Amino acid sequence: MDHPKKLMAVIIYALLLLICPLLVTAETREHPEPDVLAPDAPLDENTSMEDVTPLSEEELDFRLYRRYCMKTTASAKTVYLTIDDGPDPRTTPFYLQILAEKGVKATFFMLGRQVESYPELAWAIKAQGHTLGNHTYSHDYRYIYSNPLCYLGELQKTQELLRQLLGEETTLTRAPGGTYGHFTLEFYRILETHGFTTYDWNIDTQDAVIKNITANRILENVVRQNHNRSTAVVLMHDIGKKADIEALPKVIDYYLEAGYEFQTLKLDSPVVVHKTAALEEINKKYMRENSEAGGREKGFR
Ligand SMILES: [Zn+2]
Repeated sequence: MDHPKKLMAVIIYALLLLICPLLVTAETREHPEPDVLAPDAPLDENTSMEDVTPLSEEELDFRLYRRYCMKTTASAKTVYLTIDDGPDPRTTPFYLQILAEKGVKATFFMLGRQVESYPELAWAIKAQGHTLGNHTYSHDYRYIYSNPLCYLGELQKTQELLRQLLGEETTLTRAPGGTYGHFTLEFYRILETHGFTTYDWNIDTQDAVIKNITANRILENVVRQNHNRSTAVVLMHDIGKKADIEALPKVIDYYLEAGYEFQTLKLDSPVVVHKTAALEEINKKYMRENSEAGGREKGFR
């Protein structure tokens, strides 16, 4: 991209960030059903934050179909521990200690504002070899879901903080409260255009929604939802709850005893996403085209 274009893009984003709060209209659900769409086939393109190639809507939608709707089967039972909303001095140090003792790595979907407040904890997460994910800057539903550009702006702001403070970028993102009830097609398209991938979960510990949750209840929620699935993406929170600290070793032991391998999310990991109306439309469209063309690719149904 040449300089005048780059400058223009920066100016447009700056203006949009200014007007985004005025566009707030979305009323959003606190926590969606853990309704798993599907793991997907890995994409082999190398997307970069700096190198955004303009794609037609048709091309973008086909990419979305491949990324989020095409099913793959995991070769071994795999669990991804994902820890959202941190870092937090009340829980992060304990999590890091437990994970180190158990020899397990997790994926931390961090908030930009928390990284800004506790850079040393973000640094410790990185230093211990865990995977960094981007969970927006503010977690403010009314703001981030008011417009896809507001959402993108918050991902980019957090990305910049990670780059400045930790010298690391990540294209892994998670939508606050999940994509369900929040993402329209435009949200997926704007993420795809800018090289971000969004990941939901299929095991909700409910640690954030139940006020006085106990460690045993967290474990029960995991066991009840797991159903021997081959790919488990567990949602936990880094928000200062003692029950989480107590539950983490129990959850890890449960998966180890059940023969799961722990991994962190990567670009080629199966993508577990919730079944939003936008993705259902995409799936319907390309499933039909595939079957009309005699294609062998199968969608998530
Ligand atoms: Zn969150």
